[in-house]
Formats: sequence, structure tokens, C-alpha cells
Amino acid sequence: MNNEKAIVVFSGGQDSTTCLFWAQKKFQEVIALSFDYNQKHKLELQCAKNICQKYNFEHHILDLALLNQLAANSLTRSDIEVDKEPPKKGLPNSFVDGRNMLFLTFAAIFAKQRGIKHIITGVSQSDYSGYPDCRDTFIKSINVTLNLAMDYEFVIHTPLMWLNKEETWKMAYDLGVLDIIKEETLTCYNGIKGDGCGQCPACNLRNKGYLDFKKTNNL
Ligand code: ZN
Repeated sequence: MNNEKAIVVFSGGQDSTTCLFWAQKKFQEVIALSFDYNQKHKLELQCAKNICQKYNFEHHILDLALLNQLAANSLTRSDIEVDKEPPKKGLPNSFVDGRNMLFLTFAAIFAKQRGIKHIITGVSQSDYSGYPDCRDTFIKSINVTLNLAMDYEFVIHTPLMWLNKEETWKMAYDLGVLDIIKEETLTCYNGIKGDGCGQCPACNLRNKGYLDFKKTNNL
């Protein structure tokens, strides 16, 4: 156990909730930080809130409406449907330009005011859905940038970086929070909690990972 505090960038989805409980094992105190960018599914923030209340995490929701105003996107605009299949060329339309960069920047500003150095994010390069800001090289780069920008020694942790969804489920299992992740988180692009709609790319990835996890571990 690290005798320090940490901030988790927390959406209430499978990945960041797994990170929240991972952090709880590693750090003395964990604070969850969520962002309201007018995401289509308000239930996402509600899930985040519920999890923090139920399991006793300090939780803050920061207003980032500007992001939606600048970058039209299928996760924020009800008139844009999420792509069923990833495009052959270019980025999927669920990608929000600058999102992780802004989240990490605001998380770092928040952290520094509280004297906190550790920031945790649930990004993964293995199942990264083509999002450039989920890659390890981006995280390393913004870590350096934030340190230079604020003359401070932030440490960004990415416990899921090299895990696929199956391995992320295994981590939840090993942390003893499998049922919480399965039932109380929201990953689905159609805003359905738990197992989700079963149709969208996020559900496909999550549900396939769960089945693989069960099979591999004979559960
Ligand atoms: Zn879904």
C-alpha cells in the first residue's frame, strides 16, 4: 500500500471502475473525478455517482460542456448514431477529439491543488478502438507535458494499458469486485447499465471479453 493519495479519472464504466478498486488497494486515499460533457446518456454519470456513494469514494463532477460544443460526436449528439462497425479509414465517430487530454489536464490541475501526484486512467492500448489518446505513447507524452506545465511530478498510472477486455475482467475478479463491475457499471453506447444492449461496439467488446474470461478460468 502506497502511503499517498490518488485521483482516478472516473466515468462509471467497466474500465475506470476497475481502476477505482485497483487504486483503492494501492493508495491510502482515492478520489474519483468525473466529467459532465453533456454525454447522451446521463445514466453514465449517475452510475459513477452511485458507485462512489455506495463504496465510499470522495467524488467530484466537473463541468466540461465546452467539449461537446466544440466537437460534435456520436456519444454526445442524439442526432448522430454510433458506428456499428469501425470505419475502414480514419477514426470511429465515437472518438471525441481531445477528450483524454482535457480530462487528464483537468485531473492534474485538481490533483495539484490538493497536493496529489498520482493520477489513474483506465485507457488501454490493447482494445483501444482506434482512439489515439488511449495509446501508451500519448500518456507518456502528456505526463511529461503536465509536469513541465505545472513544474510538478505527476505520475500517471495506466493499470489496463496492456490488458485486453478478458484480462480486465480477470483483474476485477482478482480484486473481488467482479459482480460490482458486471452489474453496476455502464459501458454501452446505448446507455443500458450492466450487460448493456448487446449490439453496440462497446457491448460487443465487453461481453466477448466476459465470455472469454469465464472460459479461460473455468467459471
Ligand atoms: Zn450497447
